[in-house]
Amino acid sequence: FELERLGVHDSVEAVFPPSELADFLADLPLEVGVIGDDEIAACDAAVTLEHREAFLEVDWVHSIQAGVDRFPFGEFEADDVILTNSTGIHDRWVGETVAGYLLSFARRLHDHVANQQERRWDQPEWDEGFTLSGTTACVLGTGTLGSGVAEVLGSLGVRVTGVRRSAEPVPGFEEVYATDNLLEAVADAEFVIVTLPLTDETRHLVDADVFEAMREDAYFVNVGRGPVVDEAALIDALESETIEGAALDVFETEPLPEESPLWELDEVIVTPHCAAFTEDYFRAVGDIVRENVSRLESGEEFYNRVV
Ligand code: NDP
Repeated sequence: FELERLGVHDSVEAVFPPSELADFLADLPLEVGVIGDDEIAACDAAVTLEHREAFLEVDWVHSIQAGVDRFPFGEFEADDVILTNSTGIHDRWVGETVAGYLLSFARRLHDHVANQQERRWDQPEWDEGFTLSGTTACVLGTGTLGSGVAEVLGSLGVRVTGVRRSAEPVPGFEEVYATDNLLEAVADAEFVIVTLPLTDETRHLVDADVFEAMREDAYFVNVGRGPVVDEAALIDALESETIEGAALDVFETEPLPEESPLWELDEVIVTPHCAAFTEDYFRAVGDIVRENVSRLESGEEFYNRVV
């Protein structure tokens, strides 16, 4: 197809200003502009966060997220629309956020921040703090996110193991388990960290059995997708002290409903699906778009093509 007009859909506003990306791509040999829903049909391609029915009328849609579970693959395929995603860019960004969660738990920073809100000088018990060095983290998903998490945690002296569909080794992971051995994989870890995409296979993969198999002093982290975890089972595990705590960036319902018990549970850190937010986000997405515009010109297969 011919690429004459590429629209940056205004839904990306939730992650970065759409005009920043449009400006970044302004030197491409095509018309690039910010578009609302009404202007989708006039484009050949769109860069977006959310899905719109009208995207089935364009030739190519690029997701600014790695997770593409919000797009109807079957309809894209039927209507010959190419879908590409942004996997490959979030490795250290999310890795540093996860390191932040773990350091908060180990060094009690979340307690101090909470106390500070109340102007309360309250030192922790002598045995509350611990050090990350020498602990084990089991990371579910060994792709871009998982590898970034492994790299950052590895530099803090954490021993990192991984879980993927096969037990094939991955650089940065001391041991890799196949999903079939998930319960064995999580059993010895002080931290269990989900970096999985949401698929038919991963939906509710982390359930009551997984929390039961974890150490009682273990912390659970989810930076993948909310529905990979049975959230009711997670809340049960936290309330019954089957596990020690959790840091959660993604939820079954987003925004996390005001009545969710997760807001107020001890040893739970809630962040609003922003583990990958950085001022560089639009540039990294722009580089992928630029690469694919050039591949289209030279007739090569698209980079990060999903459909
Ligand atoms: P990748 O495709 O690079 O990695 C996905 C990993 O998941 C692979 O290691 C794959 O391993 C593994 N996997 C897939 N299905 C299964 C399964 N059934 N059992 C076990 N392992 C499985 O994606 P990214 O790392 O870039 O992103 C992963 C997800 O993280 C995204 O889909 C998105 O939902 C989420 N995300 C969240 C962000 C946030 O802000 N919180 C930011 C970016 C991404 P293998 O193929 O070897 O089985």
